[in-house]
Amino acid sequence: MCVTKELKNMNKNACPCGSKLPYSACCEIYHAHHGTASTAQALMRSRYSAYALGLYDYVLATYASEFRQGLNESKLSESDNGTQWLHLEVISETSSGTCATVEFKATSIFNKHFYVMHELSQFVFREGQWFYTKGDIQAGSGEIKLGRNDLCPCRSGKKVKRCCRR
Ligand SMILES: [Zn+2]
Ligand SMILES: [Zn+2]
Repeated sequence: MCVTKELKNMNKNACPCGSKLPYSACCEIYHAHHGTASTAQALMRSRYSAYALGLYDYVLATYASEFRQGLNESKLSESDNGTQWLHLEVISETSSGTCATVEFKATSIFNKHFYVMHELSQFVFREGQWFYTKGDIQAGSGEIKLGRNDLCPCRSGKKVKRCCRR
């Protein structure tokens, strides 16, 4: 019984980035101390978690300034409004010198519709920390058509109708 409870708690505290670590031992460290993500992938994961948790100040602070193009916290919040981020899959990470690219797929639900965003994100290392510059959306991004009995993309192991689309 105790084990089940602990596991449940662990799931509840799990980091949204899918690392299987508790949030407090994962992206929360970066969210609390901007600029400390040690790799482009760690920064990318922490930005995903920040979107999932609505920490738009972090998203903005980790944007390279010349790529913000008038973005601010309220614009970020508006564009993310109603979207629930369900799952992150990091596909690859390549780096050379102060530049890095991270390829990932992020799954979300908006108005009971599921979406996948397949992106190649670019990062730059400067002044001792990684920043996001821009992302290129890849083919295959967009709505995922799922039936009620398909497995939920949040990886809960439950059917869509009993999980995120309930
Ligand atoms: Zn994390
Ligand atoms: Zn689900």
